[in-house]
Amino acid sequence: MKTVYLDNNATTRVAPEVLEEMIPYLREWYGNPSSMHTFGGQLHRTIEEARAKVAAFIGAEAEEIIFTSCGTESDNTAIMSAVESFPQKRHIVTTRVEHPAVLNFCKHLGRKGYRITFVPVNGQGQLNIAELVKSLDDDTILVSVMYANNEVGNVFPIAEIASVLKERRILFHTDAVQAAGKIPLNMKELPVDMASLSGHKLHAPKGIGVLYVRKGTRFFPYLIGGHQERGRRAGTENVASIIGLGKACEIAAKTMEEDVSRMSRLRDKLERALLERCPDVRINGDVSNRLPNTTNLSFAYVEGEAILLRLNEHGICASSGSACSSGSLEPSHVLRAMGVPFTMIHGSVRFSLSRSTTEAEVDRVIDVMPQVIADLRRMSPFGKARSETFTRP
Ligand code: PLP
Repeated sequence: MKTVYLDNNATTRVAPEVLEEMIPYLREWYGNPSSMHTFGGQLHRTIEEARAKVAAFIGAEAEEIIFTSCGTESDNTAIMSAVESFPQKRHIVTTRVEHPAVLNFCKHLGRKGYRITFVPVNGQGQLNIAELVKSLDDDTILVSVMYANNEVGNVFPIAEIASVLKERRILFHTDAVQAAGKIPLNMKELPVDMASLSGHKLHAPKGIGVLYVRKGTRFFPYLIGGHQERGRRAGTENVASIIGLGKACEIAAKTMEEDVSRMSRLRDKLERALLERCPDVRINGDVSNRLPNTTNLSFAYVEGEAILLRLNEHGICASSGSACSSGSLEPSHVLRAMGVPFTMIHGSVRFSLSRSTTEAEVDRVIDVMPQVIADLRRMSPFGKARSETFTRP
């Protein structure tokens, strides 16, 4: 059975061209870029070429790109750098729907005595900008708002927030991990101070990330040690993955426009069909302003985990906002922040497409899903009455 992989917000497949480009740096060119000898030292130039590709992809200068080990490290570094750079201040603003890489780091700082404001969202997951602005004061060091949400796909008004913060001279970080490759990013036009990216969300390998730091922004390193990354991130460079990320960015820059229109067409087809064929289902998120590849649906009277297990039997990979399946014991904090009723959170499923998702794969999910839902509802004491009204398409 061929796998239908619709969990691309969790991770993406390494593009074959990316892998191809990386292999010589694992097999033959295994030197350390900090070495004096040519064998290692020459890798320095290759890293700089990759840096230039990443920079071009997001409209940045090469020197504004710091390679890290993942999106989480980039997020932690951005927040910690702000805190260390302004030791006299104690207030950080973020949102209730951030990835744990931001949310839990802010909670950690909260336990250390920092004041943290978690800005709420409404029922569609839209950010309350007025509340964000109201929370700012002279003690505010940093605002960190994600560019796009990983669970429901909502895109936040980063440019609008950035212009407010610029006037107030407050640092602004955006977690653009889910946006990169799905939304054009141009740091020349977007006045954020720092932005995080992660390779494995964009067809590069796991274990490579980027922190963009605008020239002139006060910066304090998180990993302290050697002089790598101009003293801004110590640790021997992950050469092969850096090369891979450079290639992935080069490809994404060329194909993004076409990828986005394909992904959104297929996502819309999938969503429309499931809404038509499965009764008692709702879309979670802001349908007018979402990532082109993401749909998050709640099916009443069924457990998301049960849906995932059934889909898994059909070789279909998706994810759920309900307990355990996401590796946590808590139901999705994003859906909770949006006020989605608990029963609907437990019945939520996220499908996330990539540029390699095919029409046939989407059709397979459209075929399988209505029956999965109907069967589960038939078995559920809450779903019994409902399933009797369900007619097979
Ligand atoms: N931020 C967002 C929005 C994410 O979706 C993820 C990963 O799912 C991360 C940060 C963390 O990235 P990484 O897995 O590279 O640490």
